[in-house]
Amino acid sequence: MRNTARQTRENRTITVDFQHEATYFQLLGDGKAFVECVIAFILSLGFQLKHKAMCTGGGCMTRHSHYLRVRLGGVTIWRIQCTTCKAVFTVLPHFVLRYRSMRPEAARDALLATHGGLSLELCAVICHLSPMALYRLVCAFGQHSLVTVLTRCGLPLPTYFLADEKHSRCLTEKVYLPTIVCGRVLWHLGYVEEASAVAFTQSYGEFQRVASQQEPSYRVKGVLTDGFDSTTKSMRTLFPGVRLGYCLRHAINKLPGKLAAITSAVRKALRSQFHTLLYRARQRRGLRVFALGQRLRHFVDHVTATAGAANGARVRRWFQDKKAGWYAVLADPQMPVTSTLLDQAHNAIERKLFMMKGFHHPHGSQQAFLTGLAHLYNLVPYQRRAQHAGHCGVEVEGGKVPTRDWFLNLQILTSGGFR
Ligand SMILES: [Zn+2]
Repeated sequence: MRNTARQTRENRTITVDFQHEATYFQLLGDGKAFVECVIAFILSLGFQLKHKAMCTGGGCMTRHSHYLRVRLGGVTIWRIQCTTCKAVFTVLPHFVLRYRSMRPEAARDALLATHGGLSLELCAVICHLSPMALYRLVCAFGQHSLVTVLTRCGLPLPTYFLADEKHSRCLTEKVYLPTIVCGRVLWHLGYVEEASAVAFTQSYGEFQRVASQQEPSYRVKGVLTDGFDSTTKSMRTLFPGVRLGYCLRHAINKLPGKLAAITSAVRKALRSQFHTLLYRARQRRGLRVFALGQRLRHFVDHVTATAGAANGARVRRWFQDKKAGWYAVLADPQMPVTSTLLDQAHNAIERKLFMMKGFHHPHGSQQAFLTGLAHLYNLVPYQRRAQHAGHCGVEVEGGKVPTRDWFLNLQILTSGGFR
């Protein structure tokens, strides 16, 4: 497996929901009805076919040629062609996976188990397929970009988002997963081997590139980070003029570490006072930024009085360093305030990566695998006791999925033939 996509010609496969297998086999005998059914399905999604450049797509579609899927017991697969630009689309019925002999039901169960945190090896045991087949299945879906799939669901490109890197390991080497989250949806999950601004810029730049292709006027207004230097640098490089905020909850959790040689009761009290300070600063509209500056100065005086001059000086330096990022959060009501949703996404991905240690080898297709996992994160509905039971992240964020079946959605949304 390679890290890069290896498409030699354009993938114009489309997955079409024929509802029942019997319907599909009936339509095979009637070319006109077959094409009409395919077109009706595409219209119902509100999608368009990816014709060749310069073709308006106004021409007719005809059945072009067919072949047999021998490993699927000889299912006939038809291709349809645009009479104007001659682009050829392979029509996969909903019960057939691209390039795979695996039945969608088996793939659905195995992916759901993987998403739930079961190891690839054990998923393979309960689903009767090899761990490698499952790994490749995730990678295959991961060849399609998150941005493409999410915008197909009608989600607008995020103008405000959270960005942070998950630390992980590939065997003994440290690796980092640059991540972009907006609400319940992952927009980017990258893979780099060093924590430098250059490496992060390259990874986040992949998101920026695809997003700008989708929408040339795309501008990011605000990004919340934990304040790590390489992250903020890469954001400034990729999104000039962006408002860069630092997570407030992260700040509250960091404060105790700045306070040395005091009792834990004093440390706890100061943490809780700092929490109240940031909370109140958020409550005040209008003068929020001014109010915060004044309150931070008072707080440093208070630390000096209760915990000594050394602690006071350390907290002052830390405030100097970070306050611009906190101001940025308070100055724009649309800015996200804490990175909790990003941490949740990271924890969910972490469980799966931990479970697939055996596949974490240096020459694996990490990027494709991670993107595949991210698709599952966005499209698998929450379990029935969850807050958003039955809905997937995309729907919670206001997006629209093609059908009620998440796996069919994954097949349709990652079809290369749609535009
Ligand atoms: Zn055409």
